[in-house]
Amino acid sequence: MTALRIDGKAFAEQVRQEVAEGVSALKASHGVTPGLAVVLVGEDPASQVYVRNKVKQTEACGMRSFHHVLDVDTSRESLMSLIQSLNADPAVHGILVQLPLPAHLDSKDVIEAIDPAKDVDGFHTSNVGQLWTGGNPFVPCTPLGCMKLLKSIEPNIAGKNAVVIGRSNIVGRPMAALLLNESATVTIAHSKTHNLPAVCREADILVAAVGRPQMVKADWIKPGAIVLDVGINRIETEDGKGRLVGDVDFDDVSTVARAITPVPGGPGPMTIACLLANTLEAAKRSVS
Ligand code: NDP
Repeated sequence: MTALRIDGKAFAEQVRQEVAEGVSALKASHGVTPGLAVVLVGEDPASQVYVRNKVKQTEACGMRSFHHVLDVDTSRESLMSLIQSLNADPAVHGILVQLPLPAHLDSKDVIEAIDPAKDVDGFHTSNVGQLWTGGNPFVPCTPLGCMKLLKSIEPNIAGKNAVVIGRSNIVGRPMAALLLNESATVTIAHSKTHNLPAVCREADILVAAVGRPQMVKADWIKPGAIVLDVGINRIETEDGKGRLVGDVDFDDVSTVARAITPVPGGPGPMTIACLLANTLEAAKRSVS
């Protein structure tokens, strides 16, 4: 078997187009332009790249972008004061504080200061609680993107065995909640899980969100399973340039799975596309 390669890049382009159409429609119907504020504290190079991409894509789909760069030694008071002013600003519909924050700032504390109605990352406990208990939360962007990719090839998730490797607040836990909400039978695996390969072999749907390069091998996979690889890991190569790989050994697992996401080009591109979709949704809710 050679697995179907799920093209996250193409799917993300489709989502961005839908968002751009939604932005035009909202401007026409209500005179409202969705606005996303991105707050970056410090000069972490990876965060700078993420933020640049977010700003570029926000503007490309017709939204307003508010970009705030604060010094690495910004005080808690200054950051909180900025968040309060963004909460109160009617032109800002979504607020994203780029993580990780410098060590002297508590990310939980900062996330809780964001108005849940503008929490387009879906990290505020109000949105997390709604995700698990029912309601209409903002869903964290990476798992939301994974669900869109999954549903594009398997709309019928109910009753399927799903295994999520990883229990972070950003990926693993919300991913598990989304699968449960679709009536999958969900197992959350983590670093203390016994016999992980055997647990994974039960999965009709396997999501890897670990951060261990090419950890998942073909003999962990139930034949015909769908595999979503969230991991982004840089490995060294002979030419010294390095290369990005996921948590799944793509070539090996492709011989057994029914469908698989590549890295790069899988859930990664979907993350920003879903951030834009959440921001449009926040703007729509603000006028309804
Ligand atoms: P975290 O480090 O927060 O969580 C990793 C999880 O993997 C933990 O729950 C940990 O278990 C578990 N784990 C670690 N080692 C093992 C192991 N040997 N066996 C089983 N489980 C293990 O990472 P994130 O969730 O933030 O990110 C996961 C991966 O996804 C990373 O590669 C990251 O770069 C990528 N990522 C990609 C995004 C995108 O596509 N846009 C967005 C966010 C992340 P325990 O809890 O027990 O420690």
